[in-house]
This record gives sequence, C-alpha cells and structure tokens, in this order.
Amino acid sequence: MLDLTEAFVELIRRTSTDLPADVEQALREARPREASDSAAQRALDAVLENVDLARRTASPICQDTGTPLFFVHHPPGWSTRQLREQIRAAVAEATRRSYLRPNAVDALSGKNSGNNLGDPSFPTIHFEDSEDEELAVDLILKGGGCENVGAQYSLPHGGLQAGRDLEGVRRVVLDAVHQAQGQGCAPGILGIAIGGDRGSSYLASKQALLRPVDDHHPDPELAALEARLTEEANQLGIGPMGFGGETTVLGAKITHLHRLPASFFVSVSYMCWAHRRRRMTVRRGQITYS
Ligand code: SF4
Repeated sequence: MLDLTEAFVELIRRTSTDLPADVEQALREARPREASDSAAQRALDAVLENVDLARRTASPICQDTGTPLFFVHHPPGWSTRQLREQIRAAVAEATRRSYLRPNAVDALSGKNSGNNLGDPSFPTIHFEDSEDEELAVDLILKGGGCENVGAQYSLPHGGLQAGRDLEGVRRVVLDAVHQAQGQGCAPGILGIAIGGDRGSSYLASKQALLRPVDDHHPDPELAALEARLTEEANQLGIGPMGFGGETTVLGAKITHLHRLPASFFVSVSYMCWAHRRRRMTVRRGQITYS
C-alpha cells in the first residue's frame, strides 16, 4: 500500500491555513449587508483579513485548530489499520510543523499529549468501504467553541412547541442558534440531522457540513427549509461574533436518517466562520486536493 503520510500532512496544512473558496465567498457577500462601519462589518473585515493573511503565510486561520475529523472512503482491499497509522503519523507531524495546535488533553487530568494524538478517538477517523477505485479523504477541523454550542433535541419538545415534523425541526434549530448567541464565532454554518439515534444523528449532522455552503438540497422541501432557516436565523439580529447585525449564519445543511418509531432526534452541529474543510483524492497514485 502507498505511504500517504506526507500527503496527509499536506491535506492538514491546506485545511488549517486555506479557507475553502465557497466559505470565503459567503463571508465576502455578507459584508455589504452589514451597516457601514458597524461592529458587525468590522468583525467581518477582521475575519477576511485574517483569512487572507493565513493563506499568504501558511499559518493556521485560527489559533484553535480544532478536532481533526477524517472521513475516509477507501477502495476494496485497502488496510484501514495502515491508513489509520499514516493519518495519526501525519497529525503528529503537522502538529510538529505548527499547522495544528496541540489540542488533545486527557479527559480527567487535562494533561496535553503534545502531538494531537490521544486514545483511538483523537483524531477522529471514520472509514467507509467503497466500490470506487479512488481513495477520498475529507477533513474537517472542528473548533472547540463552535462544538460547545452544538445541540440535540428529542421531539416532541413541549417548551418550544416543536412537534415531530419539519415545523418542529425549524423551531428547535432556531432555538439552537438563539441559545448560541454568537458564541462559537458567528457567522457559522449549521449541519442539521433529522432522525437516527443520538450517536448517528450527531455524526450525520457533522457530515452535512461537508456540503458546499452555496449548494441546494436535492429535495425541494428540505431546500426550502434550509433557505428559510438561514433567513430566519439572520433575522435574530445576533450578527458576526454576536455583535448584532444581519449575518448570524451563512447557511444550513440538512440530512436525515431512518429512526425508531419511538424517537425523533434533531441534532445541530454549529460550525464557526473558520469552516476548515478540504478533500484529498488518490487515483492510480495521483494525489489531488480540493
Ligand atoms: S469557534 Fe472557530 S473561529 Fe472561534 S475560536 Fe474556535 S475555531 Fe476559532
């Protein structure tokens, strides 16, 4: 099997230092919507300046380089053990090169491992066997501040008068944004999963964040709900970094899973403006990044 360790280091470097074009574009489009010289507009200016500087100097976009979440789709016959070893070696090397901040601490003692390696769940790596001859690896660096404001709801929810339908989903998602109050570094992107169990629902809400900010859900009803959620979240007036303003979220991405008849979970993963997301593919030894 190919040794892809250095290629994974490069994937991490690009993810940590180079914000995807669709996210940057959404931030640029948000700027003129804010009042001239408002705190909101100045916050967006600082964010955009930072994005540019990070790219030019190959420095992390944010001091918190987050939890590395890898989603690996591999052709039949590839060794997941070897891929895991290579990814872990790459994470340690990327930390040594300062593309990542040492972020893995022991749950009880708080002691930092120093290299972003912890028990098998840090970094988080999900494997999926695929029929494709291409290896595809998606990486998200999920910041701690935005992770802290994620939320999961069990419907029906009496306090929010949210039933087991899309209107109920709308109510709880807007509640999650309201509760966050700009913490987690607004404007963010909402990954939303409907259904599943508690674990699969949260995972799916993170996978929803792999979609481009500017795409549309293929189901017209869910596409309409995504657009409505974005619009209504932005009417809450929370604004960039919670300073007030027109831009609280840049987009909402919904996915859904089968569920037990007894359960109806809605999970919201909030991703901050530093939506660091990149993909690496390997086909016949040829490595590409997007
Ligand atoms: S939430 Fe995002 S932008 Fe805010 S400190 Fe964490 S990683 Fe940085």
